Amino acid sequence: MTAGLPEWLPAQLRHAYDNAPAVRRLMDQVPVAPEDIRTTDDLVRIPVTTKDRLLELQHADPPFGGFLAVPPAELRHVFVSPGPLFDPQGPDELGLGFQRAFRAAGVGPGDIVLNTWSYHLVPAGLVMDEALLDVGATVVPGGVGNSETQAELILKLGVTVVLGSTQFFITLAETLTGRGHRLPDEWKVRLAFLGGEFGDWMAKRKRLEQQYGLTTSSAYATGDVGLIGYECAAQEGYHVGDNLVVQVCDPTSGEPLPDGERGEVVVTTSNRAYPLVRFGTGDVSYALPPCSCGDPAMRLAPLQGRVGQAVKAKEIFIYPRQAEETGLRLAGVDRAQVVVTRNGSRDHVLLRLETQEAAPGLVEQASQAFLALSRMRPDEVRCEAPGAIPADEPLVVDRRQP
Ligand SMILES: [Zn+2]
Repeated sequence: MTAGLPEWLPAQLRHAYDNAPAVRRLMDQVPVAPEDIRTTDDLVRIPVTTKDRLLELQHADPPFGGFLAVPPAELRHVFVSPGPLFDPQGPDELGLGFQRAFRAAGVGPGDIVLNTWSYHLVPAGLVMDEALLDVGATVVPGGVGNSETQAELILKLGVTVVLGSTQFFITLAETLTGRGHRLPDEWKVRLAFLGGEFGDWMAKRKRLEQQYGLTTSSAYATGDVGLIGYECAAQEGYHVGDNLVVQVCDPTSGEPLPDGERGEVVVTTSNRAYPLVRFGTGDVSYALPPCSCGDPAMRLAPLQGRVGQAVKAKEIFIYPRQAEETGLRLAGVDRAQVVVTRNGSRDHVLLRLETQEAAPGLVEQASQAFLALSRMRPDEVRCEAPGAIPADEPLVVDRRQP
């Protein structure tokens, strides 16, 4: 890819180089100067800083590992993610970009939003609160738990939008129906803005939409970067805002991959306080073709898992989501698992399927489905009885001897 870069990037890199010692070190090591970076190919010369590496740097040079590029007194908040990883929020980063997601979902003046994300330590609850106020909505700061009380609030306050994990939203709805309330007749909720799940999450969302008379939306965000992608009405992956440069990269080499290939989501931000450059989120996704909504912006597929869960066989990474999705695409298959072993000097890729009875052609269908998802044909497809794949085993297993 030699595409041009957004207009803000040169000034951002200069600012980061001058003010964030960690960014200066990264660029001096190459070496490359901010002015040398004119294309995405140039940007790729800067090595990826993984989340683990960021944690190491923060431990070695607390609290922000040399990435802070404004005086500490200017910070709005310091959030604490598991690690502990410190996420500074600068003066210009109100809402950490979530305004885009809420506007795209049609949230605005007149909406009463129950926000059930955590307001403690982590950014989620508080930054979404900021963004909701910014787009003109009214917020009920519910926070985590208290499902009985929060469910009642939805009715008493006429809540129109609920923010939370998919599971907590279901808990709230079932709390109300369990008390004899008829939904959707008795509530005004028109939008559930939900945290993502693996598995057949889109089908689950469709069921919730029909059952409770609402639409659903979602976004992709991390504590370090804030909002990375948001859904449009098409609900097909996450649009990336023009305030970020997002690349899908080979997790080993850091090189950008062709559109459609799975790899690590690597983000360069326009955040002046915390100017992460080529930050490796550890999340796995792939770039989708332009959206049916007409917005030409880059679009990421729903997350496929974490980089550390991948197993490399025959020079190709296999991700748990590919095993899971292979199973979802095959009628009569409950579960699928990929097991990689070594056969002499060759990797052997076994696709295991749990099924009541193997329909004719299932093996070939499974082989095709896995090929379409992973660009690799399994060496062997084995149909097994339900329960054969231990529930606590990963969906991709590496059984090669070191
Ligand atoms: Zn779209």
